[in-house]
Amino acid sequence: MTDHTIAAISTPYGKGGIAVIRISGETTSDVIDKVFVPKGKTVPKASPRTAVFGEITEADGTVVDTGVCVFYKAPASFTGEDTAEISCHGGVLVTRRVLEAVFSAGARPAEPGEFTRRAFLNGKMTLTEAEAVGLLLDADTDSRMKLASSGTRGVLSEKLSLIGDRVSAVLSNLFALIDYPDEDIDEVGAERLSTELITAAADAEALSATFRTGRAVAEGIPTLICGRPNAGKSSLYNTLSGEDRAIVTNIPGTTRDVLEDTVDCGGVTLRLFDTAGIREAGDEVERIGVARALEKMEAAELILAVYDGSAALTDDDKALISKIANRTEGRDVYTIAVVNKADMERALTKEDEELLCRMHGCVIGLSAKTGDGLDILRNKVAELYGLGEIKIGEDAVVWDASRKAELDLASALLREAAALLAAGEPEDVVCSTAELALGAIRRTDGRGVSEEIVNGIFKRFCVGK
Ligand code: GDP
Repeated sequence: MTDHTIAAISTPYGKGGIAVIRISGETTSDVIDKVFVPKGKTVPKASPRTAVFGEITEADGTVVDTGVCVFYKAPASFTGEDTAEISCHGGVLVTRRVLEAVFSAGARPAEPGEFTRRAFLNGKMTLTEAEAVGLLLDADTDSRMKLASSGTRGVLSEKLSLIGDRVSAVLSNLFALIDYPDEDIDEVGAERLSTELITAAADAEALSATFRTGRAVAEGIPTLICGRPNAGKSSLYNTLSGEDRAIVTNIPGTTRDVLEDTVDCGGVTLRLFDTAGIREAGDEVERIGVARALEKMEAAELILAVYDGSAALTDDDKALISKIANRTEGRDVYTIAVVNKADMERALTKEDEELLCRMHGCVIGLSAKTGDGLDILRNKVAELYGLGEIKIGEDAVVWDASRKAELDLASALLREAAALLAAGEPEDVVCSTAELALGAIRRTDGRGVSEEIVNGIFKRFCVGK
C-alpha cells in the first residue's frame, strides 16, 4: 500500500463541459465526506460505483459547485485502492477550487503517472499494460491507437505470461528431480522437457521478431523525402500529411529548411522530413538547406526519393542518386523511387527507368497532385514493415527495445538450457540457466524490475493518469 491519498484533475487542463477530479488512497472516503454533500439519501461510500449527485463544498461550508461523485471500493478500482471521481463543471477556476478543497480535506497532489503507478504496484495491471496506457494517451494515428489498445487489454502480457509459465512448468519438473534424486530422469523425460524449453525459446523469438513492426507503429520510422527542386517533394509531403504544411510553387528552391511531421502511411508511422531540393546551384540559404537535407539522409531509415516523371532525369537527379548510394552504404536503409506527376505523360528514358530500378529498393509511379498511386506507396510501406502478416490490435506485438532485448536473452538461455539437458548435464545446472531465462521473461512484465526503471516509466505520464 502507498503512503498517502492523492488527487489530481484527470481531464485536460482548460475550459470544458465537465472536469473530473480523481482521488485515490486509504482516506478517500474521509476526503469525500468533507467535500461532497449528497443531495439525496445515497452516500457515495455506502454505494460504490453509483453516480451520486450533490454539492461540492470548501472547508468553511461554501458551496463551490454541484456535481457527481462515484466511489470505488478497494480493490475494485483502477488503482486497487479506495478511489473516487468527482465530476464538476469544467471551468478552469471552478475545477481548481474543487481540487483545492480536496487538498484541504487531506489529499496531496498526485505526481505524473501516480495513479497508474499505484495500479501497477497493487497488481491491477502489468508493466506492459501500464506502458500501453501511456502509448494510448499519446496515440495520434489509428495504428498506434490499435497497438496501444491491444496492450491495455493485455494481449502482449498474456503472451509473455504463457511463455513464462511454460518455462516455469519445466523448472518445477526439474526441481522435483533434484529433490527426489532416486527418480532419475529417463531419456524420454529429458527429451520432453528439452522440447518444452525449445518451444518456449521459439515463442520468445517469434515475439521478439514482431519488434520491427511494433517499433514502426509505436516509435515510427525516420523517413526522408528528397529529390531535386520541383520534383514534387513538398506536394508529396502535403499529400501524406494531409495538410498544406510545405509551400508548393513551381519556383525551384522554395523549401529551404527541414519540415517534420508524423504521418500514418499504410499503418506505419512515418516521421517525415521534407527537405530542400538537392542541387548544386542556389544561394547561401539554399546551400544550408541542402546541407541539412544531406545530414537527415544519414539518420533516415526510409528514403522516398522523388523524381519528376514528366521529364527525363537531370544531372541533379543523377547526382542525388549517387549521394543516396554513398550515404546509405552499409546501413539498413530502404529507398523507394517515387516517380511523381503520373497524371502527365511519363518521359523517363529507358536508361532512366533502368537506373532507378537498379539503385532503389522499388519504383512507384504516383501523382502527388491527384493522389493516384498513393495506395501503392502505402501498401509497399506496410509490407516493408510486416503489417501484412502481423495484425495490429489483435496479435501480441513488442514495441520497445528493452522488452525485445529481454526476450532475446531469454531465448538464448532457453536454447542453452535445452542443450545442457540433452547433453545429460546435471539438473541443477540446467535449472540455473532456465531460471535466468525465466527472470528475463518475467522482467518484460515488470516482475523483478528495479524501482528506478518503474519510476522512469511512470514519470513520462501526465498528472491525473
Ligand atoms: P518540390 O520543389 O520538389 O518540393 O516540388 P513542389 O511540391 O513544390 O512541386 C513543384 C511543382 O510541381 C508545383 O508547381 C506543383 O504543383 C507541381 N506538382 C507537384 N506534384 C505534381 C503532380 O503529381 N502532378 C503535376 N501535374 N504537378 C505536380
